[in-house]
Amino acid sequence: MEIKIHNIGDNIGPEKILLLRQPRIGLEAIVVVDNVACGPAIGGVRMAPDLTIDEVYRLARAMTLKNAAAGLPHGGAKSGIIADPACSREQKEILVRTFARMIRELTEYIPGPDMGTNEECMAWVKDEIGRAIGLPRVLGGIPLDEIGATGFGVAVAAEVAASEVGIPLKGSHLAVQGFGAVGMHAAKFLGKRGAILVAVSDSRGAIQNQNGLDIDALIKHKKKGSPVQTFPGGQAMDSDELVGIKCDIWIPAARPDVLTENNVDQLKARLVIHGANIPATETAEQLMHKRGILNIPDFIANAGGVICAAVEYHGGSESQVMETIEEKIRTNTLETLERSKKENMLPREAAAKMAYSRIKKAMTYRGT
Ligand code: NAD
Repeated sequence: MEIKIHNIGDNIGPEKILLLRQPRIGLEAIVVVDNVACGPAIGGVRMAPDLTIDEVYRLARAMTLKNAAAGLPHGGAKSGIIADPACSREQKEILVRTFARMIRELTEYIPGPDMGTNEECMAWVKDEIGRAIGLPRVLGGIPLDEIGATGFGVAVAAEVAASEVGIPLKGSHLAVQGFGAVGMHAAKFLGKRGAILVAVSDSRGAIQNQNGLDIDALIKHKKKGSPVQTFPGGQAMDSDELVGIKCDIWIPAARPDVLTENNVDQLKARLVIHGANIPATETAEQLMHKRGILNIPDFIANAGGVICAAVEYHGGSESQVMETIEEKIRTNTLETLERSKKENMLPREAAAKMAYSRIKKAMTYRGT
């Protein structure tokens, strides 16, 4: 494991960086607890063969900001088990259970699922140390991707932003990049609010129909394992053309850095709602701002998942989840837009300022 911790951290964190090794079973792991001023830190356990301290720290900081921006009583952390996530189930269970036992005393960290781990892994963690989120339903878990918690929050952010720029949601045209858990639910919930889905892509291609794609039928098609491009209700097109499609609202819900200085001038939409994490480069976001394209940043728009996890942790029910997401994302999107206008800054900068001020305020209540 390469150890490189220079340039990490500032005046809010991280508070702890742990390197865990259990040579007998080949476990190597990193835990970064960034900041716990708002409460015990929530953050996923990633499993990947090439994790670095820097990456885990950046992910932990993103959780600190997302949780504070969402107004949750939780700080931010992240951890990573350095292993191949495609290892056997038996091997995974040994690694995850050993990892869990090694963080037993780190009670300010509540682990959740992330890339390479799932609800079964969280059940093993809970079994070992009595705390985890993202659990199976039989253990009180709320299946956030099944109910579309993040996509629902993205739809709420889009509704608030559309009203800000004077686009009536009913009859507005929508394009979605990535038709997985986030993208399909964002489309579904916006469709319920009257938006028309005119184009969509997945990793295998794209499809469009300016008269509207049938969202429920497309979801059924996709859930059968078929690529969106083979859906009979539209015309296939090249994935790269999705950026320039004629629409009002554009939702990236797939990969990071898909909007860059090389393609952002093609955008015709007036609103970009960040379903994926960091879908636009910094320069692309500045260029969009100059052109009057309103962006709602990831840690405001896609916080539905972590809000759902927090409701689960506090013993809340599935019906409370959507209500809490609606209330929190509506309030935070509005506050971000107000600050961004008043202080003449990008919505991302305004949202970060809002999150930092909440964290710093919470830090004043802590002992030294
Ligand atoms: P997912 O795996 O369910 O879906 C991803 C979709 O993107 C798939 O349809 C895939 O085919 C498509 N895709 C992959 N590469 C693509 C490409 N180059 N062009 C177009 N489509 C492509 O994942 P998800 O859970 O929906 O997550 C999507 C994004 O949202 C990720 O960046 C994730 O980190 C972020 N996110 C997810 C959640 C959540 O609750 N699931 C919460 C916050 C952020």
